[in-house]
Amino acid sequence: MSDYVNELMAEVKSKNPAEPEFHQAVQEVAESLILVFERHPEYRAARILERLIEPERVIMFRVPWVDEQGEVHINRGFRVETNSAIGPYKGGLRFHPSVNLGILKFLAFEQVFKNSLTTLPMGGGKGGSDFDPKGKSDLKIMRFCQAFMAELFRHIGPDTDVPAGDIGVGGREIGYLFGMYRKLRNEFTGVLTGKGLNWGGSLIRPEATGYGAVYFAAEMIETRGKTLEGKRCLVSGSGNVAQYTVEKILQLGGKVLTLSDSNGSIYDEEGIDNERLAYVMELKNVRRGRIQEYVSKYKNAVYTPTDPKLDHNPLWDHKADCAFPSATQNEISARDAQNLLGNGVFLISEGANMPTTPEGVEIFLDAGVLYGPGKAANAGGVAVSGLEMAQNSMRMPWTREEVDNRLRLIMQSIHKTCVETAVRFGTPGNYVNGANIGGFLKVADAMMDQGIV
Ligand code: NAP
Repeated sequence: MSDYVNELMAEVKSKNPAEPEFHQAVQEVAESLILVFERHPEYRAARILERLIEPERVIMFRVPWVDEQGEVHINRGFRVETNSAIGPYKGGLRFHPSVNLGILKFLAFEQVFKNSLTTLPMGGGKGGSDFDPKGKSDLKIMRFCQAFMAELFRHIGPDTDVPAGDIGVGGREIGYLFGMYRKLRNEFTGVLTGKGLNWGGSLIRPEATGYGAVYFAAEMIETRGKTLEGKRCLVSGSGNVAQYTVEKILQLGGKVLTLSDSNGSIYDEEGIDNERLAYVMELKNVRRGRIQEYVSKYKNAVYTPTDPKLDHNPLWDHKADCAFPSATQNEISARDAQNLLGNGVFLISEGANMPTTPEGVEIFLDAGVLYGPGKAANAGGVAVSGLEMAQNSMRMPWTREEVDNRLRLIMQSIHKTCVETAVRFGTPGNYVNGANIGGFLKVADAMMDQGIV
């Protein structure tokens, strides 16, 4: 069977050159699915995985826009619509200079499995642009978002494709994007999620990914008869996911020691408490400053600038129990994984998408620690996006408690699916196989039912 994966990967690499993140995501899933194909050759015969790898549609477009000085800029926009067998395409938009087709294909591919795990009827997609919102005026952001939507609007819709936020796309950007969509279409529909509360948004959506990653961690740790109470936690990033991960860890009695942005990381041995978190939220969401400023305010904390020459990330090299990578892909290398284990970490819950390299994943799996891959652990964000779609369709908002309760139940259900599926396929405790196979089966059966389309 490993011949099957080797042949598949050779074809994937030759058809999708220079897309290493996409190759990485496909390889991990293919290795898990060997266990399925041994028992269910019908999926292999129907070439379900090969069909999943090839997006149903990829849209790539020019985004020309003019800034307040009259200067003309040209960015590249994308929407990758990977699979719609179980529902409309659903997945975030990322605005970051590193965005390219391969990164969005990896994210859209992962999204298919993640969305399936949520139990909600959502297909998988992802989009974005190489536009960098960092340090830009509100006017520039608005003009870019309007120009981006001037093309995207013809490809999306509440029953077709429902984008949301991701790196660089928060409430402000969703607002500008939604405003332009509404104007162009002359209709008010739930075409984007992460909307403002006064115009169709859901309570708990901003919190959902971070809260969900911690609920998932709480489920994992419970299997060892423990809780998060008193646990020392390392969190990376300082954006949406990181902030609400910290908030929920604090609510469950854990201690948070680190945060970061792309310029560097902070370590606060006294712990990032609610007051310090409020400072970070104001710094990042209102003043849009850098995490380095934290140490001017809290003098005992230490700032370490990012050093691209280092072969490891110092953020992962502190005594701790749990790690919550919440910044970006491949932020935990093999060396980082070893450092984490050496420092006592026995639980990793991935708020970010694919933050651990394949070598790092292998180290975690071999060590038998509680390793919750992003597909499962960060599915809370898209799950509440699904709940936002449901509320939009009913034109009825739910209370905070209702949404939070549903989120917790969904995370428990994803955890249960991962655990039971891993056991069923002979790899107990392996959440990677549990998530990949659990997510795959529902989509595969839908594709079998619907024929070759
Ligand atoms: P965000 O609000 O834009 O925050 C991203 C954070 O990560 C920022 O602190 C950013 O620092 C840092 N970061 C980004 N790229 C980096 C890089 N190349 N190197 C080092 N640091 C980097 O984005 P987010 O929504 O929190 O997303 C974080 C991760 O969670 C991503 O992997 C995303 O795909 C995943 N995720 C998000 C959601 C969601 O609902 N938002 C759902 C599921 C998964 P700078 O400000 O310096 O760039």
